[in-house]
Amino acid sequence: MISKNRFYQVPHCNGMGHGKPSTLAAMRSVKAEGGWGVVCTEEIEISPHSEIAPNFEGRLWDEHDVPALLLMTQACHEHGALAGIELMFNGYATPNRYSREIPMAPSHLPVRHLDPVQARAMDKRDIANVRRWHRNAALRARDAGFDLVYVYAGHDLGLPMHFISRRTNRRTDEYGGSLENRVRFLRELIEDTKDAVGDRCGVVVRLAVDQLLGQGGITAESEGRDIIAMLAELPDLWDVNIADWSNDSITARFAEEGYQERYISFVKSVTTRPVVGVGRYTSPDAMVSAIRRGVMDMVGAARPSIADPFLPNKINQGRTDEIRECIGCNICVTGDNLCVPIRCTQNPTMGEEWRRGWHPERIAPVNAKQAQETALVIGAGPAGLELARALGQRGVEVMLAEATRQLGGRLIHEAALPGLASWMRVVDHRVHQLKRMPNVTIALESPMSASEVLDFGFNRVFVATGAHWRKDGLGRQHRQPLVDPTLPQVFSPDDVFAGAMPSSPVLVYDDDHYVMGGLLAEKLARAGLEVHFVTPAAKVSEWTDMTMEQARIQGRLLELGVHLHTAVEIVGVSPAGTGLAIQLDSIYTSARQSALSCASLVLVTMRDPCDELWRELLAKRELWHESAVLTVECIGDACAPGTVAAAVYAGHKTAREFDSVITDPDAVPFRREMIRIES
Ligand code: ADP
Ligand code: SF4
Repeated sequence: MISKNRFYQVPHCNGMGHGKPSTLAAMRSVKAEGGWGVVCTEEIEISPHSEIAPNFEGRLWDEHDVPALLLMTQACHEHGALAGIELMFNGYATPNRYSREIPMAPSHLPVRHLDPVQARAMDKRDIANVRRWHRNAALRARDAGFDLVYVYAGHDLGLPMHFISRRTNRRTDEYGGSLENRVRFLRELIEDTKDAVGDRCGVVVRLAVDQLLGQGGITAESEGRDIIAMLAELPDLWDVNIADWSNDSITARFAEEGYQERYISFVKSVTTRPVVGVGRYTSPDAMVSAIRRGVMDMVGAARPSIADPFLPNKINQGRTDEIRECIGCNICVTGDNLCVPIRCTQNPTMGEEWRRGWHPERIAPVNAKQAQETALVIGAGPAGLELARALGQRGVEVMLAEATRQLGGRLIHEAALPGLASWMRVVDHRVHQLKRMPNVTIALESPMSASEVLDFGFNRVFVATGAHWRKDGLGRQHRQPLVDPTLPQVFSPDDVFAGAMPSSPVLVYDDDHYVMGGLLAEKLARAGLEVHFVTPAAKVSEWTDMTMEQARIQGRLLELGVHLHTAVEIVGVSPAGTGLAIQLDSIYTSARQSALSCASLVLVTMRDPCDELWRELLAKRELWHESAVLTVECIGDACAPGTVAAAVYAGHKTAREFDSVITDPDAVPFRREMIRIES
């Protein structure tokens, strides 16, 4: 079995799984079309005895699940890609919320989730059962057309890993104790799988060679190396990484491209089998270097393939400057964690391939009727840039007007925060495309007023003028203003971006719960200020649990000496001398009131849309006709402040809908996969 190239889309979750098979197959199809030699599934549950509801992974519990997976293998084969399937039995790493079967583990153990559920120790019959379920699933995978079948021991999730790791295996029989005994279960699964499907399918082992837990866990220097040496030639291919998932898919804020090399680079010296590794590779030079230096034989990618499904084709065709590079933000991971279809900051078409029919590289030219209509896009943040780019691609005459002398909007400031430099790729990619479009004009230092817009006479006007941070504390916790915003000691993130430096000690109040509060606390602490971080949430930057960054963010602030006050709200702020007296209260009881004296206060609570221009244009609707203006729309943060991903998506969607006539506003705007009613 030969892959057409060395580009290997490793398994990745997507929030679709068994719930949305057509949506999923269309997404994988686009990857295959984009040139990936191998395209893999996400985790595929092999039995109801290990299922991870409510998350949507794939399923191969019995033959009824085969047709859904056939959709994907057929799509991959049509485009000349090999299809791989990651068979999963997650043991104590799932509470079996849907099936209510008791989870199984090498030894009695609470499950990894916080559910009040314990996994029971497996006896010999359980081991035989899991082996048989795995074997049967491998046979069904073969029948579903897969070329590569995984035995999964990655991420602290797969049961074989639980047997291998001393942390989760206290057995005293032949499956516990020595490393050889602990590896026995993995060896048996590999042998079973080879025996069942080895004549038709390649057998892949995904193994975490380091758990990043030091000597308490598997390390690349000791047991990781020994495991590969023991099983070296048994699988047909090794897919190696580090555990757990938050380490494997670490964000750009905490690790650079190629960050796994130091752990996995020994593998090729211990086996002659081909080796796949990951490390958020987006640069062809780094990929070639990893191959040339003998770190890996095939370049594995999940996130780079999500941000740009056509990355391989672009490299093959010498169009490397067109690669839509992953920014390492993990918004893609939030889809899986929130049990909804995957989304991506860089690639707004991700997850929309089937339900909206969007392709990452192609958009039809606008229809003949509207081909003559000109467009004015006001504001060059992520929303305006993507809208202008996609309209330009559709052949529309576009002017992009930006008030400042720089393209990028909010990202100019946000990408300058600690660790976010790669976020500027959202801007760079789009600006590069725009500059090559003869039908797009960019006007910098062009703040637009309503009368100028009407004077210009563009037919279609799009207001993408962004948002600004409030400075009075209004937000989730406080539905009424809390602080006098005119106090000179009070700052918003925008003030800090504009160069204002709060005095020390400073209190950063985070009622936003995504990255901004933690980033500003980090920035100010690095600048030498004493920082108090106060949040009504139970944790710092709590929503970043969804991007798997929360523990790292909180750890970093602690390392920087930031004083953390969680589950605490501000209840009063008053001037005291040159500083402020800030009254705090527990969100649970008013019996825990306290006060902090600070020189300054930074409020990270919510943003207001900068939509004055849009409102003014709406108020002048009677003048549109004589100015040839047909429509005025407000998009991105100017419509409703959100993530960068939401702004890019808004820009893209607006461009797609430039010439679509909404005949029925009550109709569901995308296709749905309906549940078949069983009698
Ligand atoms: P979004 O995330 O929705 O794209 P941003 O805040 O990132 O929003 O970007 C908005 C951009 O719009 C900024 O670069 C800002 O300078 C620009 N802008 C705001 N008002 C005007 C205006 N009246 N004319 C031109 N550009 C404007
Ligand atoms: Fe990369 Fe962010 Fe897209 Fe995920 S969401 S693929 S991390 S750009």
